[in-house]
Amino acid sequence: MSSEFDFLEAPEQVLSTLNPDGTRRWLFPRLSKGRWWKRRRWVAYSLIALFNLLPWLPVGGKPAILLDVANRDFAFFGASFRPTETPLLALLLLFIFLGIFYLTSLIGRAWCGWTCPQTVYLEFLYRPLERLVEGKGYAKGGKSAPLWRKAVKYAVFTLVSAHLAHTFLAYFVGGAVVLEWSIGDPAEHPVGFGLVWATTVLMLIDFGWFREQLCTLACPYGRLQAVLLDRNSLIIGYDERRGEARAKLPARKQGGSFGDCVDCGLCVATCPTGIDIRQGLQMECVACAECIDACDGVMAKIGKPLGLIRYASQESLAGGATRWFRPRTIAYPVVLTSILGLFTVSLAGRESGMVQVQRAQGAPFEVMNDGRVRNLLSFRLDNRAREPRSYRISLPEGVDGLIPVNPVTVSAGESGMGMVHLYLPPAAFSGGKASVPITIRDGVDFEHVLEFQALGPF
Ligand code: SF4
Ligand code: SF4
Repeated sequence: MSSEFDFLEAPEQVLSTLNPDGTRRWLFPRLSKGRWWKRRRWVAYSLIALFNLLPWLPVGGKPAILLDVANRDFAFFGASFRPTETPLLALLLLFIFLGIFYLTSLIGRAWCGWTCPQTVYLEFLYRPLERLVEGKGYAKGGKSAPLWRKAVKYAVFTLVSAHLAHTFLAYFVGGAVVLEWSIGDPAEHPVGFGLVWATTVLMLIDFGWFREQLCTLACPYGRLQAVLLDRNSLIIGYDERRGEARAKLPARKQGGSFGDCVDCGLCVATCPTGIDIRQGLQMECVACAECIDACDGVMAKIGKPLGLIRYASQESLAGGATRWFRPRTIAYPVVLTSILGLFTVSLAGRESGMVQVQRAQGAPFEVMNDGRVRNLLSFRLDNRAREPRSYRISLPEGVDGLIPVNPVTVSAGESGMGMVHLYLPPAAFSGGKASVPITIRDGVDFEHVLEFQALGPF
């Protein structure tokens, strides 16, 4: 239908999710249950199970993964990390990012199609639920589904999103705490309650409305494709040399020379980002392999070899040979091995405990009635071992001190506080300072000598 704004229409399709008049083009991809889909389904359900399990799985007395921001404590499969260990965490993050870059240079956007939470949850949880609830309405582009079915769909989406939001919160406070909060009064835990509902709403917006646009418009990783891939990286591609000239089956009956593509359009109908893979590699392709399954089904029916759309490099699709060893596929493993080596050495050399000392608040020192100078200091003791440890604080021979609790026992992966009242004669100070070595040891494998700078009269 023509309108006064016709002159604004783009000469070609700008975005797969946009109609020529600028309105949203809703996608209702057709499911292609081929061999790749079955493999992806295994991976997806395993990842979903893992995501739901990890905050409940106890390792060394804590959840397998705990990002306790409030207490600045990060637990990862029994190992505890403190914010003071930022270099170690930075090395780990760098390794993960570069590892994804390396894999992308080798096998393209496998991360997007196989493991990214956006794809996993949209294609293997929300979309299947939508297909189930909307029934035939989904197949007709979602328009003819009755209102009650749509209401049921959003009710189910809300329940699923609320569950996922609770699980998400469990990564920050632990599964047991979330359970306790969930059955308690929300007013007692307004932050946790607010976080759960904000996450639920964000998930509903993303999986119910924004959907594939997160991959095609918002995700920075998709934008990086141009620099991460080269002509020898594995992508999902259409074999143009074999497929063209395409022609529908009735047209073929008239005779002529045609390629294998019967122009059925199933590869486009199944694509969750709405693109036509036959137009070549596009930034919107999330490498989900749905079009391979759709096309293989067609090829099998018409008795042609499978793989008109397949995993291949651009080089091999153009008739050349894929080069696996290239500067970037050699450089990435070298850098990754170095980072891993550095990480392993740092981890192996990591002590089983850590001590941080600080002066007590208030006056830096106090001159007692007997002339001695008192300094009050407190210790924070981090136990990184997997069992409780008792830390004994010792002062040097001849130095007077009062240690109210000694030794200080700290549970595995937890922190404890110790306190020392240090009494020094005025003669011990030079320029208002006196250095006192304080030893902390746990009797197992941890010993730390701390040079404390006591303050006194100048
Ligand atoms: S083009 Fe194929 S692999 Fe790429 S997103 Fe679409 S269906 Fe998935
Ligand atoms: S599914 Fe295969 S045969 Fe059908 S249009 Fe796509 S490439 Fe051509």
